[in-house]
Amino acid sequence: MTSENAPDPATRPDCPSLCLVCGLDHRPLPAEDWPWGPDGTLASFEMCDCCGSEFGYQDATLAACRRSRRIWTEAGHPWSVPSARPPGWNPSAQLAALPLRACQPSPGPQP
Ligand SMILES: [Zn+2]
Repeated sequence: MTSENAPDPATRPDCPSLCLVCGLDHRPLPAEDWPWGPDGTLASFEMCDCCGSEFGYQDATLAACRRSRRIWTEAGHPWSVPSARPPGWNPSAQLAALPLRACQPSPGPQP
């Protein structure tokens, strides 16, 4: 049973190390510091060095991820921690790592 108003939680068991807002892979960090922890189901409330989202807030639902990404994109893909930005960083390549559900609204029930 689903409700039209139920939030679509942005859990990520298939890609637990990815920020679903900007696509940054947090694998260099210990799994406890990944956006939603080692199994991708419980927000860590850490901040993304790239897009600056706080995991559990700006990325709590897939709609929130898309909204946060739009704001970040419109700002020109700024890094929250500029010193963490790798040389030659390419936002398009990073965003390409995002799973489809984080990019497009999931199809709702047909009327
Ligand atoms: Zn991010």
